[in-house]
Amino acid sequence: MAGTPSYLDFDRPCPTCEGVRRRTRDRSCYACHLRRSQANFARMKAGIAPIVARNWASHLDLLRRQKAEREGQGITRTFGSTIATYWPTGRLEVRFPDGSSTPDLAKAMSAPAVWKAAQQMPDLRAALQWAGWC
Ligand SMILES: [Zn+2]
Repeated sequence: MAGTPSYLDFDRPCPTCEGVRRRTRDRSCYACHLRRSQANFARMKAGIAPIVARNWASHLDLLRRQKAEREGQGITRTFGSTIATYWPTGRLEVRFPDGSSTPDLAKAMSAPAVWKAAQQMPDLRAALQWAGWC
């Protein structure tokens, strides 16, 4: 596969265009990649910044958030016996009533598991609502 710019993956069609051709380099959808390139070419002809420049801006935004996170700029709120900290990178740290905690709820639990837990723990539900999860 090395050396070829793309390959076919029939098991995982693109969620956007259902294409099965993938780029070898980053496994992104080949058709969507071409469409983005064409859109960028049209934007450049029209004198508008290509999409990649906006990605650069969002990259800088991420760096800024990571710096803020390193500096401890999370927001902590207490909901009954549950303590939640919302970090600049979007990570939600939760300390549960039983004393256990997770640094990143989205990584620790699947979405259905989070939803189920929120139904059983009103404090957690309040924390998730505060963090904009539900
Ligand atoms: Zn696609």
